[in-house]
Amino acid sequence: MDTCLFCKIVRGEIPAHTVYEDDATLAFLDIHPVNPGHTLVVPKRHSFNLLDIDPADWAAVAESTRHVSKLVHDVLAADGINLQMNNREHAGQDVDHPHVHIIPRYRGDGLPHWRGKSYQPGEAEEIIAKLRAAHA
Ligand code: 5GP
Ligand code: ZN
Repeated sequence: MDTCLFCKIVRGEIPAHTVYEDDATLAFLDIHPVNPGHTLVVPKRHSFNLLDIDPADWAAVAESTRHVSKLVHDVLAADGINLQMNNREHAGQDVDHPHVHIIPRYRGDGLPHWRGKSYQPGEAEEIIAKLRAAHA
């Protein structure tokens, strides 16, 4: 994709701090880190997000994410790791190329966790029936 920001980073047309690279994936520092070492893992082949990525590309991203998470955790002496992937605009996706955020976490770093809601009576059963029917 000519105009895609992360395709341009993959092609080397825009500079980035590369953390890790293999045939199918690239991992580089996020330009606005939540914590230092915040890394993005992307497939080299363009798609939009988790909803249209080729399964083989996703498998490669998943394995690179595991590898780089351990690297970031161990080398930066993190106390934990969060993974986040925003898929589509209303989930917070700004760049339309799949990317997994690897965020090193530190004791007392103050980042809030999202809050859980509660199901209304019957709501979980309704949802599970829809999801299971789609798999039948
Ligand atoms: P999203 O909101 O789409 O999940 O995340 C996009 C991420 O890309 C943001 O965290 C943002 O800081 C990062 N980003 C945007 N432009 C650039 C860039 O030119 N270089 C790098 N390394 N990261 C970028
Ligand atoms: Zn792209």
